[in-house]
Amino acid sequence: MRHSLKWNAQRQELINDTERNILMRPVNRGQQPDGLVIRKYRDALPVLSERLGRYCSYCEARLPLSLAIEHIMPKSKHPELELVWENFLLACHICNSIKGTNDIKVSDFFLPDKDNTFTIFEYFQAGIIINDSLNSQDREKAERTLQLVGLNRLNGEDNRFIDFVETWNLVLRYKEKWYKNPSTDIIESIVDLAKESGHFSIWMTVFADNPDIKKRLINAFPGTEKKWFDEEGRPKPLQ
Ligand SMILES: [Zn+2]
Repeated sequence: MRHSLKWNAQRQELINDTERNILMRPVNRGQQPDGLVIRKYRDALPVLSERLGRYCSYCEARLPLSLAIEHIMPKSKHPELELVWENFLLACHICNSIKGTNDIKVSDFFLPDKDNTFTIFEYFQAGIIINDSLNSQDREKAERTLQLVGLNRLNGEDNRFIDFVETWNLVLRYKEKWYKNPSTDIIESIVDLAKESGHFSIWMTVFADNPDIKKRLINAFPGTEKKWFDEEGRPKPLQ
């Protein structure tokens, strides 16, 4: 009974947070494999999606069929980087097209392959989805990052937002199942389902009070950059 009261209170809190919890999973693509010759940038897609999972590197949606290579520095402005492994992430077509061919200076943004993006977007203020404790320079950098792929303007008309809300509701249902029966079976189902549904950060947020599940999620999502999390699965604070 005590559990269900605690769950009801937490559930309401999590529902209230639905529109504000938009996070970015930090990733590590590793070195370009020795045997991989990149003649066209699409040659890198199979290995990269195996390394990082079939998820958009920005909005975290799972995209089994429509995943594309995303050039961090746009290939139209930097043709010399078109086939460079370190310039690749994965993206959905919405994040990809909003980012477009805007030229970027990498150091002006927080990017999931080089920064502790999970911590940067953990806490929000008045709908702005940026860690409250950042200094003003980092806040500007975080805001530019959200603008870069349009994550600052998610609303009901954006399919990414619908995906967020649906996943959020799914995770809440599984949290409730876990409250009722915190068995290993349920925990394993939660991790399997998380991998299938994508949105690592939503699962990590809803299960923030469960180090076991968080550690399993960090290990289950390919390419999650583990150095940004402590041994309890908590995101490390920014330096
Ligand atoms: Zn996306």
